[in-house]
Amino acid sequence: MTMSVAGVLADTAAQRPAHSALIYEGEHITYGWLWEQARRYAAVLRANGVRPGDRVAVLLTDTPQFPVVYFGVLTAGAVAVPLNALSTAAEIEHVLTDADVGFLVCAAALLDQAKEAAAPLGTTLLTIGPGPAGTVDLEHAAQETAPVETSAVRDPDDVAVVFYTSGTTGEPKGVMLTHRNIRYNVERMVTTPYAFRSDDVLLGCLPLAHGFGQICGMLTGFRAGISIVMMPKFSGREALALMAEHRCTVFMGVPTMYVKMLESVAQGEPVPQLDRVYSGGSALSVKTLNNIRSTFRCPVYEGYGMTETTCSVAYHYPGLTFRSGTVGAPITGITVGIARTNSDRIDLLPAGEVGEIVVSGPTVMAGYLGRPDMTAEVMTDGWFRTGDLGMLDGDDYLSVVGRKKDLILRGGYNIYPREIEEILAGHPSVAQVAVIGIPHPELGEEVCAVVVPARPGALISGSRQEIIEWSKQRLAAYKYPRRVEFIDALPVGSSGKILKRVLVSRYGPAVGA
Ligand code: ATP
Ligand code: MG
Repeated sequence: MTMSVAGVLADTAAQRPAHSALIYEGEHITYGWLWEQARRYAAVLRANGVRPGDRVAVLLTDTPQFPVVYFGVLTAGAVAVPLNALSTAAEIEHVLTDADVGFLVCAAALLDQAKEAAAPLGTTLLTIGPGPAGTVDLEHAAQETAPVETSAVRDPDDVAVVFYTSGTTGEPKGVMLTHRNIRYNVERMVTTPYAFRSDDVLLGCLPLAHGFGQICGMLTGFRAGISIVMMPKFSGREALALMAEHRCTVFMGVPTMYVKMLESVAQGEPVPQLDRVYSGGSALSVKTLNNIRSTFRCPVYEGYGMTETTCSVAYHYPGLTFRSGTVGAPITGITVGIARTNSDRIDLLPAGEVGEIVVSGPTVMAGYLGRPDMTAEVMTDGWFRTGDLGMLDGDDYLSVVGRKKDLILRGGYNIYPREIEEILAGHPSVAQVAVIGIPHPELGEEVCAVVVPARPGALISGSRQEIIEWSKQRLAAYKYPRRVEFIDALPVGSSGKILKRVLVSRYGPAVGA
């Protein structure tokens, strides 16, 4: 076995070359073809000056070109820097500068944003499809070039991929993950009962530029030899239809995707027959969890993790007895602790106490690229401070309470938005809710609930009082929201997470009015 990231594809291609790795727009793409293409792309990249260790940014939609280019870059020994296809020119420029990228591989369809960002920086632009004069069309050149025989040799501690975090709390950070980080995670996920089975068919709708879709979905899937149905742009209705058409056995997504699918089912879309589903990326409310269970009639496995820990930290993996309100237990080899907040040292708290979730083990990142100061802030004595608050019970089950940055401080009390969100989600007319703290002249912060009604017109402004009463009956007096706002859809980032900072800037200034 080759313990590099490229080795994931090389090994499966050697074992089952004729099996479908990808299904896209009705076309089946085999592992053998994918590996051959990756080796051709590696040859062209090398011929164009890419050297082992160079950083190569990848700006592509989630079509089969993504894995071809991604594995091409890694096979050439270079470091992949995936960019979300929805990135604006300014966001691309931020990554190209921040990661000091020499090369950018870009889909012809995304060329406008890419050119604008790359031109002033002198980044070498390689296109997939015909590009402007003077650029190399990688796709064309690859078909004229003999594939390299094998992947460039890399040390397990060399950086393989630089991922940008979701940017939920601020500017995305460049996370350096090594071959060892990624392979450790992939091996754990296929050797625990979590495992994909080689006959599984997964709907691949999570963005491949993000760790969840790339590592937990694509890499773990390829390691197990599954088939992935590619879906570059998510819609609830289409996801259900694609899963039925291709007889998918597994779904993996963020909670907002489940909410969208459940809405489509409520509108009459048929429910595909799935074997099991996975959720991660943000908190799954008990209401949504129960709706998924009763609609899909299969086990739901929730996981918790982040880019900096190569995704998976804890899972409600198959075989682990389900414990409501928790995200399961740490994956093998990963140690999770709960540390006292506001302490320079890592001061671990006993079971049952809430503190900052800290993680150590072989999946913790090599650091933030070019930011030793930021890396030092989050790394203490081998522990990574996640910035999330949580609790372990006596059996090592982890509960995630929320992000430290989202904690509401109202009149001297600490309020965890998630607790209020769970209560409000239980109201029959509430489809989705986000609870935020907004500045208040006397209390410091006031609790504000931003609600998406279950049906258009289900809640009108007169229902504010109804929502407030609902929570007043179920929550302590200092916690219930004094302010309720209605919204058609919550703002989400590129990986489908609710952007609370956008809500705070939208509703914050009107406080006290
Ligand atoms: P940024 O770091 O740029 O603000 P981000 O933290 O959203 O963005 P990711 O690395 O994609 O970037 O997300 C990891 C975070 O997602 C975790 O730190 C946690 O806050 C949240 N998260 C992931 N899974 C869960 C879960 N099951 N329950 C609650 N929160 C979760
Ligand atoms: Mg984060």
